[in-house]
Amino acid sequence: MKFKMFSCKEISKVSCHEEELKGFDKLNYKMHLFMCDKCRKYVAGLKFVQEKFSSLLKRRSEINETKIKVLEDEILDRLKSKNGNE
Ligand SMILES: [Zn+2]
Repeated sequence: MKFKMFSCKEISKVSCHEEELKGFDKLNYKMHLFMCDKCRKYVAGLKFVQEKFSSLLKRRSEINETKIKVLEDEILDRLKSKNGNE
C-alpha cells in the first residue's frame, strides 16, 4: 500500500466523519493535523460548531418536552376547573 498524505482539501472532507477513519487514514489525518496549522484550526473550529450545535439541539428537545408537559397540565387543569366550577 502506498502511503499518501491527505491534502488540506481532503482533510476538510474527512473531518466530518473523523471517528470513522481507520488504520493509515487515521494516522494520515493525525499527521496532517500535526503538521498543518491551517487544518488544525479548521478542525478545531468545526468541532466547536458541532458541539455547540448538538448541545443546542439537546437543549431544544428538552425545552420542547417540558413545554409540552406544561401545556398538557394547563389544558387538563383548565378542563378540570371548568367542570368543577360551572
Ligand atoms: Zn492542511
